[in-house]
Amino acid sequence: MLKLLKTHFGFDQFRPLQEEIIRCVAAQRDVLVLMPTGGGKSLCYQLPALMLPGLTLVISPLISLMKDQVDALKANGIPAAFINSSLSRGEIAAIQADAFQGKIKILYAAPERLALPEFQNFLQKITVSLIAIDESHCISEWGHDFRPDYLNLKLLREIFPETPVMALTATATEQVREDIIQQLGLGQGKTFISSFNRPNLSYTVLPQKDAYGQLLEILGEHRDDSAIIYCFSRKDTENLAADLRADGFKALPYHAGLESEERRNNQEKFIRDEVQIIVATIAFGMGIDKPDVRLVIHYHLPKSIEGYYQETGRAGRDGIPSRCILFYSSADAMKQQFFIKQIEDGQERKNAFRKLDQMVEYCELATCRRHYLLSYFGEDYREESCGGCDICLSPPAEFDATIISQKIMSAVIRTGHRFGMNYVLDVLLGSKNKNIFERNHQELSVYGIVNDFSKDDLRRLTGQLLSRNLLEKSGDEYPVLAVTERGMTFLKEREEIRLPRPGSARLSAPADAVDDDYDRALFEKLRLLRKQLADAQGVPPFVVFGDLALRQMALYLPQSEENFSRISGVGEQKLKQYGKTFMEIIETYAKKNNLREKTIPVKRTDRSRRVKREGSTYQETKNLLLRKMSLEDIAAARGLAIGTILTHIEKLAAAGEDLDIDYLRPPAEKFARIAAAFRQSGGTALIPVKDILGDDFSFEELRIARLFI
Ligand code: ADP
Ligand code: MG
Ligand code: ZN
Repeated sequence: MLKLLKTHFGFDQFRPLQEEIIRCVAAQRDVLVLMPTGGGKSLCYQLPALMLPGLTLVISPLISLMKDQVDALKANGIPAAFINSSLSRGEIAAIQADAFQGKIKILYAAPERLALPEFQNFLQKITVSLIAIDESHCISEWGHDFRPDYLNLKLLREIFPETPVMALTATATEQVREDIIQQLGLGQGKTFISSFNRPNLSYTVLPQKDAYGQLLEILGEHRDDSAIIYCFSRKDTENLAADLRADGFKALPYHAGLESEERRNNQEKFIRDEVQIIVATIAFGMGIDKPDVRLVIHYHLPKSIEGYYQETGRAGRDGIPSRCILFYSSADAMKQQFFIKQIEDGQERKNAFRKLDQMVEYCELATCRRHYLLSYFGEDYREESCGGCDICLSPPAEFDATIISQKIMSAVIRTGHRFGMNYVLDVLLGSKNKNIFERNHQELSVYGIVNDFSKDDLRRLTGQLLSRNLLEKSGDEYPVLAVTERGMTFLKEREEIRLPRPGSARLSAPADAVDDDYDRALFEKLRLLRKQLADAQGVPPFVVFGDLALRQMALYLPQSEENFSRISGVGEQKLKQYGKTFMEIIETYAKKNNLREKTIPVKRTDRSRRVKREGSTYQETKNLLLRKMSLEDIAAARGLAIGTILTHIEKLAAAGEDLDIDYLRPPAEKFARIAAAFRQSGGTALIPVKDILGDDFSFEELRIARLFI
């Protein structure tokens, strides 16, 4: 399987769960795959398609995507085709003829095709080894994107009772999941759910004050990168796109109110890297698979966490660090409340309020944003710092918040546990609001006792008290604050409390932990070449090579076929088709600038990232190793057991870190004996080897030797 992965797709390792999923369908079992956007779902059916004898039929609702996906497969030398309403009768007949003759391995079709008798006839005459149903949540009326045509899929089960079915989706709610299983009859199958964490995405919330100025600054740092900016209204998208153009950026709007011709055009320009920025309403996104979007910016507050997560998910599908930035103000939240109040249906209105409330909670967090997002989807994220959100990267300073907390809680009590946050804060700030005077609340002792915090600050602090369970909120449309039992104890016992100081979070976006070593000038040249080749073939640039491939070329400067083929994304077909052209540019550039080719480590990117992120304990060990200290000295210096240090070394080595630990190698004679024992044992486990060698060697010696073996 690894060989097929490299030969046909150019990748060195599987992403989480891909391998398990592929094994499962290869064994003829049905599967349901739940993975976040960018998790690598397509490969889960594309690779088995190459292992199985007949054809793999892929059902996908997005006609606009089919062509790109088929182009990408063809660029990898995989015979693929699609059948949908954009083709003529003649073209469809030709594809069907190819399929009969076994000339097509992967065939994409839209679900509405299945209702046509001619198409059913055609299917009956070919061998289908696997049926993959992409975006399978479309079959569920509970989902956000129900498509009646998906109900045709039940027919497939009748035509192909023996063929395994793989359903894929990025929508993870329990209800939708069960509906898919039921509707597609996957009861006997296996469900795979991967983590919804997107480690390469960073999350930042910025105050909306001077949002445009900040936006210009951020976009300026990402001049050539693709960005999506989400706005509230159609008008907003057009205005902002026009402003950005006036400021020298290539930006186009996208919303459902544009002529379909213009919409298609704008999307096409974005996908082909002719325009960097799309300013859009949430109508934009479903139909694009662009892997190299580096920025997703929410210029206005999204309506729900689900929506926000889905929209940010469009950043960084290729695994390269990418940023998700949200501009927030409480005024924006109020504007949304205004619209929600117009919703007629009571239940729907309540839901909308609750969702907005969660969104506001997210914006006002003083704790890890990734943790909040993942726990929203029921996932338990335990890292102490995620290393990729504004809060973790620059934790807000704390201050003694005892007095202000007492004031807020007292105001909740004095107003009788009957009011929402806004009202309580108005009382504290001594507002002249007539509601207050009608109730005579200007007479309360808490009226106007706060003058050292703004209303926004107080709102954040109140949020902290809520999240610490000192206050609670009930009701959706007009939530009312109350002091909890815990809060009562807090007041009675005169407990002290420290809280993050509002407004102390950094105002600018955090810098990314990008692998920044690659040569920018060469990258630009390669990017230009990529664009030319893509245009000549009428495909999007990412079909030729992804950004990761270009970055690696600009870092390692490969100039032989062997080295070039080690680049991520270079399989057999691409080596043959593009290798020479790209290497010519690299070679000329390297000569001119006196640069040498570097060896490309057989890198396990994911794991090495993990070792780096798990942080400094590994790096500290690595630093001491680089100073050529003995294991005993490192253990002593770090106050850890030698066994622990060995574990660090093993993890660093497995992650492909360059360690230079030859000085730890056991003396030749000993090493030969250990190596022979490992060979004899036939594995890498220590105990059988220890049994062979007896007490002449310690476990530690065996572990060290094993590193070199
Ligand atoms: P999804 O459908 O889950 O949103 P895709 O199938 O579009 O995700 O894959 C997202 C990106 O990840 C694509 O650019 C794809 O080439 C890349 N990818 C998938 N599997 C791997 C892998 N094993 N190694 C490296 N890149 C991969
Ligand atoms: Mg997909
Ligand atoms: Zn975090």
